Amino acid sequence: MTKAAKIGFISLGCPKALVDSERILTKLRSEGYEVAPDYEGADMVVVNTCGFIDSAVEESLDSIGEALNKNGKVIVTGCLGARPDEILEKHPQVLEITGAHALEEVVSAVHKHLPPAHDPFTSLVPPEGIKLTPKHYAYLKISEGCNHRCSFCIIPSMRGDLVSRPVNSVLAEAKRLADAGVKELLVVSQDTSAYGLDLKYAEYDWQGKEIRTRFYDLAEALGELGIWVRMHYVYPYPHVDEVVPLMASGKILPYLDIPFQHANTRILKLMKRPAATENNLERIKAWRKICPDLVIRSTFIVGFPGETEAEFQELLDFLTEAQLDRVGCFAYSPVKGAAANELPDQIPEAIQQERLERFMAHQAGISAARLQQRVGQIEQVIIDEVVEEGAVARSMADAPEIDGQVFIDGATHLKVGDLVTVEIEEADDYDMWGRLYQS
Ligand code: SF4
Repeated sequence: MTKAAKIGFISLGCPKALVDSERILTKLRSEGYEVAPDYEGADMVVVNTCGFIDSAVEESLDSIGEALNKNGKVIVTGCLGARPDEILEKHPQVLEITGAHALEEVVSAVHKHLPPAHDPFTSLVPPEGIKLTPKHYAYLKISEGCNHRCSFCIIPSMRGDLVSRPVNSVLAEAKRLADAGVKELLVVSQDTSAYGLDLKYAEYDWQGKEIRTRFYDLAEALGELGIWVRMHYVYPYPHVDEVVPLMASGKILPYLDIPFQHANTRILKLMKRPAATENNLERIKAWRKICPDLVIRSTFIVGFPGETEAEFQELLDFLTEAQLDRVGCFAYSPVKGAAANELPDQIPEAIQQERLERFMAHQAGISAARLQQRVGQIEQVIIDEVVEEGAVARSMADAPEIDGQVFIDGATHLKVGDLVTVEIEEADDYDMWGRLYQS
């Protein structure tokens, strides 16, 4: 039998890129390639790059350089692959470059430079594919690309317009994952609320029932799997209202990740944001009336070109009113090729930094107060890790990697992926502490 060829893999960027990496690895593994844990043991390295902001481009270029130094045979894919000149200028030795979600192209590039072994062990690939996340949670990518043209973003130029996966294919993947023991699905895309628009919400058969390729229908069907389902990258369109009752009834997690980016309508229009003119405060209030436990995470940009002090103040006032639970914030920075670079009145860095600090200080108080309100509550949590001191868990309000944690001191008998009930005893600005609760 021929010795299996070994591939090293570096996965950079967002969860959507991580799903691409998982698909490439699944395909390669099904063809008999092995995955090498280090550069030395690999016959070739694939680098899945990110090109979202300048620092991500730099990190991608550095990773390519490191792979070239330590291994020598490198194929580049991912978002930065849409700008091959930039890669070749710095690293002309790269063997092949493909763009984002170009599964077939990456795999044929690997075949070209490292043909698959003669006797692939197809049966070694588990039915749920190769996952880069821990066994108990997985990202579920429902679409590619985006129909919006936000002025600070170049993703549509790299990943193209919205292409949704038919709902039966998404549900089949979700079921395979649940059957394989995954306890939490994180639904990701560039614009989850637009899901199915490109397919005109086409209906497909799923387990004998016709289901539309649409945000609500997908959420409802995922809710039937009996595992945690968390929605990311949702825009506040009116039809999102329909999904909130599913959260209130416990079908899917009462969690919405909505990148608002700003609160002032003029700035939102300059940003060309989806749902720029929606009254978000009213919408949030209505959602909380239906689902009082709803947790909202968001991200914002401060110091966008032309942002006045009054408009920034409006953003702070919005935070006070909206009482969001988890918030990330960035100072605006130009991305090569983005339309916002041409906008007048770019804000000096010192003012951007000062606004970023004021924003973070303002929101820290709000987030901390919201966490304090949960002290004394009985909550279900999922175990992510067991360490010497106890178990590290997450509540329904916390997505992995980006939100907070719940520490359960002494609970070393628990296992990763267990769902347990705790009483929250303490909270700081980001994390909480609890003890196992017996009713
Ligand atoms: S919605 Fe805007 S920020 Fe998000 S991917 Fe589309 S263009 Fe970029």
